[in-house]
Amino acid sequence: MTTHREPLESVLDTIGETPLVRVHAAPESVPVYAKLESFNPGASIKDRIGKYMLERMLESGTLAAGGTVIEPTAGNTGIGIAVAAGQLEIDAVFVVPERFSVEKQTLMRALGAEVINTPTEDGMGGAIDRAHELAAELDGAVVPQQFSNPLNVEAHYETTAPEIYDALDGEVGAVVAGCGTAGTLMGLAKYAREHHPDTHITAVEPEGSLYAQTKGGHAEEADYKTEGIGTHNPATNELFDPELVDEIVQIPDRESHAELKRLAREEGHLVASSAGAASVAARSVAERIASGDIDAPYDSVVTIFPDSSERYLSKGIYGSFEEWSG
Ligand code: PMP
Repeated sequence: MTTHREPLESVLDTIGETPLVRVHAAPESVPVYAKLESFNPGASIKDRIGKYMLERMLESGTLAAGGTVIEPTAGNTGIGIAVAAGQLEIDAVFVVPERFSVEKQTLMRALGAEVINTPTEDGMGGAIDRAHELAAELDGAVVPQQFSNPLNVEAHYETTAPEIYDALDGEVGAVVAGCGTAGTLMGLAKYAREHHPDTHITAVEPEGSLYAQTKGGHAEEADYKTEGIGTHNPATNELFDPELVDEIVQIPDRESHAELKRLAREEGHLVASSAGAASVAARSVAERIASGDIDAPYDSVVTIFPDSSERYLSKGIYGSFEEWSG
């Protein structure tokens, strides 16, 4: 990213060290900062785990040199793994439910990977099953499995979190992040709690998703448009530890969509729906710290903007809510 001022050997050296930028529509006394993960070479937060998981798996011998990785993915993880696989001379195959954006699938193929679609109605569960079937058929094939692989959490604990804490001299009052696999939030939460046990941790999901049930909350299952976060079956989200979060907030698609448009118009951020949801939730946490409803160790909130809106232009992301969600 832009702080690199020396020539680099590989695109993998440009992963991480993303900017942390203030979100201005928040209380003056409790600043909100967003980490802009579209600055990664594959333009999302998932470049971090692509590089981290593959390098660690090659080191440990779980993945042999010249082997194959097969991953069920909604898209960004596929791009992240494809960037790393290409440079590390690993073959990559991705199993993607049909409903996910064509831009992501096009980029995975451009990076040299093979993409296999599974029916939308089988959900991520169907993609996970298919990936394991394929791996069983192919010699030297491994499923990194971002939904259960502790390396997913570790990537954020080792890279994303320390970058945030360095930038803010350790003064982080609350961490707010969307949960897909929950790797991002779990890595940040583990680091935050070690740094200060009272750091407020908020998990974010779309309304209609069922993470809230893991903390005894009432959640009704429904379709949602917000892409990259949420779950219809929390049993598949093995990395999520409800003990590490103070609350799980649900953001309706309509609010996430309005916020991603506001972020572009008012603050110059070309970010997608999961960032819209994270921003709504982070601003609310900041308001609650400012009003004394949340007791945080510092007056600051950190959130993550996981990827860019350019990836969703074919879905009418900057159209009306009805155009986008229809
Ligand atoms: N936003 C987007 C756009 C994503 O692709 C993902 C990954 N599924 C997330 C947020 C959530 O990240 P995590 O899997 O680490 O919870």
